[in-house]
Amino acid sequence: MAQVQRMSRLMIKTLRDDPADAETLSHKLLVRAGYVRRTSAGIWSWLPLGKKVLENVARVVREEMDAIGGQEVLLPALLPREPYDASGRWDEYGDLLFRVKDRKGADYLLGPTHEEIFTQIVKDQCSSYKDLPVILYQIQTKYRDEARPRSGVLRGREFQMKDSYSFDTTDEGLVESYALHREAYQKIFARLGLDYRIVSAVSGAMGGSASEEFLAPAAAGEDTFVDCPACDYAANTEAVTFALAPVEGVEHGPVEELDTPDTPTIETLAEHLGVTASATLKNLLVKVDGEIVAVGVPGDREVDLGKLGEHLAPAVVELVTAEDFVGRADLVRGYVGPQGLDKVRYIADPRVAPGTAWITGANKADKHARNVVCGRDFEVDDYLDVVVVEEGDPCPVCGTGLKLDRAIEIGHIFQLGRKYADTFQLDVLGQNGKPVRVTMGSYGIGVSRAVAALAEQSADSQGLCWPREVAPADVHVVAAGKALQTELALDVSEKLGAAGVRVLVDDRAGVSPGVKFTDSELIGVPQILVAGRRSAEGVLELKDRRTGEREELTVAEAVARLT
Ligand code: ATP
Ligand code: MG
Ligand code: MG
Ligand code: MG
Repeated sequence: MAQVQRMSRLMIKTLRDDPADAETLSHKLLVRAGYVRRTSAGIWSWLPLGKKVLENVARVVREEMDAIGGQEVLLPALLPREPYDASGRWDEYGDLLFRVKDRKGADYLLGPTHEEIFTQIVKDQCSSYKDLPVILYQIQTKYRDEARPRSGVLRGREFQMKDSYSFDTTDEGLVESYALHREAYQKIFARLGLDYRIVSAVSGAMGGSASEEFLAPAAAGEDTFVDCPACDYAANTEAVTFALAPVEGVEHGPVEELDTPDTPTIETLAEHLGVTASATLKNLLVKVDGEIVAVGVPGDREVDLGKLGEHLAPAVVELVTAEDFVGRADLVRGYVGPQGLDKVRYIADPRVAPGTAWITGANKADKHARNVVCGRDFEVDDYLDVVVVEEGDPCPVCGTGLKLDRAIEIGHIFQLGRKYADTFQLDVLGQNGKPVRVTMGSYGIGVSRAVAALAEQSADSQGLCWPREVAPADVHVVAAGKALQTELALDVSEKLGAAGVRVLVDDRAGVSPGVKFTDSELIGVPQILVAGRRSAEGVLELKDRRTGEREELTVAEAVARLT
């Protein structure tokens, strides 16, 4: 017996007009159809129909996570500061983090993601290689004080995320756990009915598959990705901003080797440079293990050296006064904001022709990390000249002209390696009795964002239009008339419910058929079954919400068709 939800008893108020602040289709429609209600900027309440869709998405995610052996847990959202101090993220997160104090004045945060806490739990619970591999996941409320919360639940400051974490003793194990997640994500998004692409989220030099995003193409998306029509190359432009031709006639600049003490620190670097952290640098590249992690370009730009500390600790630092880069930097035009250098990385990628450089952006919010999305992480005006990949730029793999599209990031999978295990000294006893450092992956799905992404992709001019798996009901029965129609509508609803079909039945008295039809289109249940003109004969009209195809059926036929 599936649920029969009577609209006469449902708390729902549909709106004819778009909310004034709404820019995206999903925002407008989810509000107008009564799925969500704004409580504060980027903070949303899920109303009865919305909660059903959210739960349906969560159920699909759960089933596929369980299928790869994931174990569901629930960690707190209110977290102590200390583990985030240990990882450096208390500071690194900057304004993105919601920080709170308890009555004694101790610092806490509202979890934006949970690598630290999961690492601690596994350290506590697992002691032998026999306890691994382990995949743990949760579906939980996350908090990020986004600079520009907008687009409704697409970018909330409070939102639902499925986050999972894999723990392995070997690199091969991590690759396997990553592959399991990748396949599970493919199944999840296919079941949800989302059109998506898997794209590289980091430049190829980091290993290509070390991080990938699942992007749902949609005009409302805040990510841009390049897609090669000729080969399977696809990447977020956050990861690949530009493929540059070699600069002709540019000689490699003098390389100055830093006296490398065993563990170079940021102080060592600053001392070598004769500057203090946050000093102004010019034309200087900072390379870590051969990879340039920061660069000063012509003109006075501040380099916040303090942010490089994390990169520097275990690595060999090499300083290059970069005449050679200067030429290229000119080519790259401005990726530097007036407040200072937004770090770029200059990476020789094995898949790119020798001498070709990729330039990747950096995210102001995470400072040291990837990711710049202009207009989201920055006001576009912050930029002197924004670096963009243009439609038709050559694919770095095969040279074909790239396509450029907007998309919504719905999932992100990441081979973390031993970063957090190092921080928390997460070891297990290996087969040979010696401790083995654990290697980790982390994997996210925006559960609430997926609802909005689905709305974006499936809606039409009439309203929402859900795939059945996530729809708030399988069929929307509409009593279009008086007592006779209502009686038939309730009768067929009951029979459908008994046959396991989830029913929403519009049995509201005193609401005109016209209003009910408009509401049913707006609400977007995939099948609409109308008790109208021929109700006396027991004949109903079944309408496919997407195609608009109609067909007349008796009650028995309708039940047979919809089960
Ligand atoms: P974005 O680039 O959109 O800011 P992110 O890369 O910061 O997302 P991750 O840290 O990779 O996000 O988090 C995992 C998933 O959580 C994302 O792929 C996305 O689907 C979802 N997500 C992230 N931020 C938000 C948000 N503010 N509102 C809703 N969902 C979000
Ligand atoms: Mg983000
Ligand atoms: Mg992102
Ligand atoms: Mg991401």
